[in-house]
Amino acid sequence: MNSADRQTSGGSARPRRSRPFTAPVRGGGSRRPFRSPSSRPGSSERAPHPRSGGASGHGRSSGGHGGRGPRRGGQHMRTPQRAEHRHIREATSETVTLPPLGPDTVRIVPLGGVEEVGRNMTIVETDAGIVVVDAGFQFVSEEAAPGIDYVLPNVRYLEDNKDRILGLFITHGHLDHIGGIPYVIDHLGNPPIYTQYLTSLMIKKRQEEFAHLAPIDLRVVEPGGSVMIGKENGPQMTVKTFPVTHSIPDSMGISVATKHGNIVISGDLKLEHEEGIATEKEKKNWGNLGKDRNILFIADSTNAEKDGFSIPESRVYDTIEGIIKNVKGRLIIGTFASQFERMVHIIKMAEKYDKKIVTEGRSIKTNIEIAQRANIFTPKPGTFINPQDVGDYPADKIVVIATGAQGEDSAALMRIATKKHKFITFNERDTIVLSSSVIPGNEISVQKLKDNLLRYGLTLMHYRSSDVHSTGHGNTGELIWMREQVKPNFFMPAYGYHSMLRYHATAQINAGFPRERTIIADNGMVIEITNGTELSIRKEKLPSNPMMVDGFTIGDMQEVVIRDRQALASDGMFVIIATVNLRTGTLKKSPDIISRGFIYLRESQTLLSEARLLVKKNVEDLAAGMNPVDLEYIKANLTESVERYLFQKTNKRPMVIPVLIGV
Ligand SMILES: [Zn+2]
Repeated sequence: MNSADRQTSGGSARPRRSRPFTAPVRGGGSRRPFRSPSSRPGSSERAPHPRSGGASGHGRSSGGHGGRGPRRGGQHMRTPQRAEHRHIREATSETVTLPPLGPDTVRIVPLGGVEEVGRNMTIVETDAGIVVVDAGFQFVSEEAAPGIDYVLPNVRYLEDNKDRILGLFITHGHLDHIGGIPYVIDHLGNPPIYTQYLTSLMIKKRQEEFAHLAPIDLRVVEPGGSVMIGKENGPQMTVKTFPVTHSIPDSMGISVATKHGNIVISGDLKLEHEEGIATEKEKKNWGNLGKDRNILFIADSTNAEKDGFSIPESRVYDTIEGIIKNVKGRLIIGTFASQFERMVHIIKMAEKYDKKIVTEGRSIKTNIEIAQRANIFTPKPGTFINPQDVGDYPADKIVVIATGAQGEDSAALMRIATKKHKFITFNERDTIVLSSSVIPGNEISVQKLKDNLLRYGLTLMHYRSSDVHSTGHGNTGELIWMREQVKPNFFMPAYGYHSMLRYHATAQINAGFPRERTIIADNGMVIEITNGTELSIRKEKLPSNPMMVDGFTIGDMQEVVIRDRQALASDGMFVIIATVNLRTGTLKKSPDIISRGFIYLRESQTLLSEARLLVKKNVEDLAAGMNPVDLEYIKANLTESVERYLFQKTNKRPMVIPVLIGV
């Protein structure tokens, strides 16, 4: 669905919001100041679930907390329970100083998002100042970083240069583009945040969870408009925005104007097309962009491993409409809250066929609220019913929209499937549609969900069996078309793991783009382009090791902590408690041993008594002749020999912690 459809469909036209600022590309008057929507007094926009993960991320981008269940589809991000107590630790990366730029050079640095899916952040710097694009975060797996909630781009360089930051532009409302804002915005010196209306609502909603932070300076821009940013009496930069098609409304790309041409950043996107032919709307948007002089095009690589064109969302809509129209029993649709446009479309279709809707899952409820607040749609009175009233309607009048299509244990679908839901159960007349793909890593939990569901004898449809899901990211056919419209001097694949960038680059090169003008970057790589045509990569790299959000702290100095957690998780711990007579250097009694997650002690008596003897001998041998007895020295030695002994006996390396008490 595009904004034009939105205007005309289902009588729920979206009244033009009185946007605080719009100016045509290259139009006059672009120096008018913005007004921040967040500064409206007496805002009554607080929703009932201030802790909910309203601004849900991508299905694709969300990892999860492996040990505790499947990766999330973005709809159940762990939210800070006591955000106001969050202690923000300063990043400790070393400062990297880059020489000031001359008027003819533009500097581009991806700080995150080119070695992973998530934590997107790109900076564009000229002699006038710095523009930051996106501030996302990335969920990380439990194995990679136990206990870490998510990782952020490293903002050390921006922190050191915050006086030069003119603005933060946010392309759209998914968590891999907005999730980092609450954690990094004060490190950036609270610059104004420019984005579109729906995204601004999602950012505000998330910001409510971080009550201790200074209010953000949020400014709404119109897609296709251009804004002049800069400090009063200081140098100015022009940034243009252009509308793009993605799975959430109000998605945009960014074009930063510099002396010799533009740096164009796509944001997440796909192409709206019919059988591989771009729609008129896309031709117009991209055609306009191509009229400019464009130095560099940075583009989404998420789906670059797939050739051709992705399934158009319109085909998904047709499929789902057919299902809604024809089902004989109840219809349950499992999806991501981040599939914002589809969710709204499903609601409209249900209304068209006079059905009642039950929503299950907090993130879905939150996003429906935000959609209404943004005037994206207005439900008919009585469309939404409570789950406890499901029994009051004929089965074929009920559509349930639920979270949990990734098989998350705590989400609605699994609860219903395992008969743990209070009001909803399934029977063989029901139809379930899993309107999402399976995020890698979730295969087992999705399998479990499917098995549980099919025990009811119901009908199950998923993306492999019919067109009930399409991606929000373009395949290479779409990406090549876009690059051809932009006609950049240089091309840089972004938003993806290194392999995805490689696939994307290869596809563009095979389609005729010169290899020598293709840049495959790593996080922190400093790219400079002079006169719009001369490319150089600096030898300095900006700090790019991820900053980690661990409960209440963020920082990048936690490698030791992570390593300990990994050791504890794999081999457990082994604690020795011994009392040492400081005068004689002998042990008062046989040492105590406590272990967790290592071996079952009761069945390891031989090992234990040998370990005790080893400890006793080790301590007493070392202490003999020491005056005074140096407990720290003994501890270090003891740790080493106990570790060696345990490894010989068990082939495991538990964390050995000696506690020596001197008396
Ligand atoms: Zn996205």
